[in-house]
Amino acid sequence: MTISTGRRVGTVATSTPAGVVPCVGCGGLVPDAAGPTHPYLQASAGCWQLYGEVSARQHGESGSEPGQASVHWHHVDAYAVQHPGGSEHDRRQRQSVAVHLVSLCLLREFGQPPQHASAHRGRTSQLVLPRLALADWPYLAPPADLGAVTTADLHAARTPCEQVATGQQWMESAWSAWRAHHDTVRAWAAIAHGCRT
Ligand SMILES: [Zn+2]
Repeated sequence: MTISTGRRVGTVATSTPAGVVPCVGCGGLVPDAAGPTHPYLQASAGCWQLYGEVSARQHGESGSEPGQASVHWHHVDAYAVQHPGGSEHDRRQRQSVAVHLVSLCLLREFGQPPQHASAHRGRTSQLVLPRLALADWPYLAPPADLGAVTTADLHAARTPCEQVATGQQWMESAWSAWRAHHDTVRAWAAIAHGCRT
């Protein structure tokens, strides 16, 4: 995968600042940290740390700002589809990419209420794979550029308004990055949506 360094939204970075590195997954600039990483999402430790802090912040402040909670339901989708490394070989990664792309599609194009996302993600494979006569999700080759807005940008957002706006931009960026597979994902989302109602 090609990693773009110095990629930031709204800034023109000519070099990577000291103490930060581009995430091996999303390419966002993250702390050059050691630490735990996700078992199959391909992310740098610093990126996984930022995502953990963003999630903790969102859980802690959920409900404090209109729209904040609903945006949060899909942050996990954006994070997962921006860290698809290894999905060619890992069944769990292929499922992660597929289910989270379907979740973003259901939100954006099928009007699924954000608060239903978590429950629906848990059923997507059961709903869709039998209709495709597949036992496992097919591999979707990840785009070279996974999107300009990453979890690092959301982490940097300070006010609740900035966090909601950046969270929305993050989801849009992550979804748009996979445009080569949108038709495939739409077909899966349609099955999921139709089976659900
Ligand atoms: Zn990352």
